[in-house]
Amino acid sequence: MNVLVLGAGQLARMMALAGAPLNLTISAYDVRSGNVVHPVTLEVLGRGLEHGIANADVITAEFEHIAPDVLRLCQDSGKFYPGEEAILTGGDRRKEKALLDKAGVNNARYQVIENRADFDNAIARIGLPMILKSALDGYDGKGQWRLKSADQADDVWQDIEAFLTASHQADRQCVIAEEFVRFDREVSLIGARGQDGNLAIYPLTENIHTDGILSVSVSANENAALQAQAESMFDAVASALDYIGVLAIEFFDVNGTLMVNEIAPRVHNSGHWTQQGADVCQFENHLRAVCGLPLGSAKRVRPTAMVNIIGEVTVPTSIMPLAHVHWYDKAPRPGRKIGHINVCASSQSELGEHLKALSTHLSVDEFPALLEAAEKLNQEA
Ligand code: ATP
Ligand code: MG
Repeated sequence: MNVLVLGAGQLARMMALAGAPLNLTISAYDVRSGNVVHPVTLEVLGRGLEHGIANADVITAEFEHIAPDVLRLCQDSGKFYPGEEAILTGGDRRKEKALLDKAGVNNARYQVIENRADFDNAIARIGLPMILKSALDGYDGKGQWRLKSADQADDVWQDIEAFLTASHQADRQCVIAEEFVRFDREVSLIGARGQDGNLAIYPLTENIHTDGILSVSVSANENAALQAQAESMFDAVASALDYIGVLAIEFFDVNGTLMVNEIAPRVHNSGHWTQQGADVCQFENHLRAVCGLPLGSAKRVRPTAMVNIIGEVTVPTSIMPLAHVHWYDKAPRPGRKIGHINVCASSQSELGEHLKALSTHLSVDEFPALLEAAEKLNQEA
């Protein structure tokens, strides 16, 4: 089977690596160049989306910021999973918030902001501190503003107004104001929904962010009550979208009650631990779902942590006895994810020790959340 992935980044690459044993041939549509490329070598295989669609049995996506006309063409082919509506929803916080409300899942209070009157209204209704996020194009904490006190309101509004005017999608762009949630921690749930409606859901993973970017994700402990909450929200959201494929949901854990932060209609960075930590990884399960194959077990086989390699950093080969290193073959740039490290153990406390040992080989500045993750594991064990 030939699968075309919209987007030619590391997620398409890892889908290709996971799909090979199933005889699935993955190609990737690079939205910037308009070329269809090999997702691992980036060799150009053909030119133009029509060519890619014609050669594909199935089409899927590795990211959600895709032009509406591209999504439309894919949808019209009848081969596209999870499909136009799911990708549009993941790429537009306005639609995403409406979906969460429709599915009846707990999420932060919000208001859509298009002008200064909406902004002032949101401050009065939601209260401060408040977080503001662009509806379109946000990722890794980009396109966000924090409003802590009323005296900052004019400055923050000036920034937002300039941003809205400069947006290349000015007609569709807006900002969502959200109540600031004082969460204890952030967790996410990755799961697959098959064409038959069956689900394969992984255990929750805990995420540590640094400067708005995911730094470390740890899947190690069991919390049956939290898992049950997360799974029921997953079911509600996936059913509301009639979803097929892997779906990721990011949550805030507020004293044992989960609140959805956002969803991603695709394989997700916080699911990379499944490559070494689960029976069948998220990339394979995504492909199984979109290709109409039976899903594989999402059981965690051992406590596992994923550590992102971000920016212009060096990683010595001395870590290799402790770790599975996944490079993306990308040129290092500040803030850019260029690889990740999976670390496995037989118990939670051993995972903490392994992360601590790993940290002795790596720079604290380059891997700021590593020790924090290790300490958390040791406290919980
Ligand atoms: P991603 O790379 O996950 O797509 P993003 O840019 O889409 O990130 P969010 O996940 O919405 O943005 O926000 C980034 C981070 O900002 C969150 O992980 C969380 O730490 C913090 N954050 C977001 N919304 C809120 C909120 N309402 N209250 C408190 N903190 C928040
Ligand atoms: Mg996020």
